[in-house]
Amino acid sequence: MERCPICRGRIVPEAQCGRCGADLTLPLQAETEAIKLIQKALCCIEEDDFHSAEQLLKQSLLLKSDPLPQALLMFARAHVQGIYRCQISQKQPFPPK
Ligand SMILES: [Zn+2]
Repeated sequence: MERCPICRGRIVPEAQCGRCGADLTLPLQAETEAIKLIQKALCCIEEDDFHSAEQLLKQSLLLKSDPLPQALLMFARAHVQGIYRCQISQKQPFPPK
């Protein structure tokens, strides 16, 4: 969060709007939590756990609307619905030695 969601003023380091003085502690905590949920979702995607990723991304979007988790949610949903099943089934581990 770079700007106060109330007046669009700059946020000073004390989690306060430099213009209107609004206490932005809670919105900043929500933003931090939303980022953590996106990071967890990316780990789930890396492990092909698209259902968990979908749930984490939904939680993130409840805290903060953002294009990145929205795009990742569409990606995870497509995998849950089996749209990319062909690509997944072709995925193979390293060849045996
Ligand atoms: Zn403000």
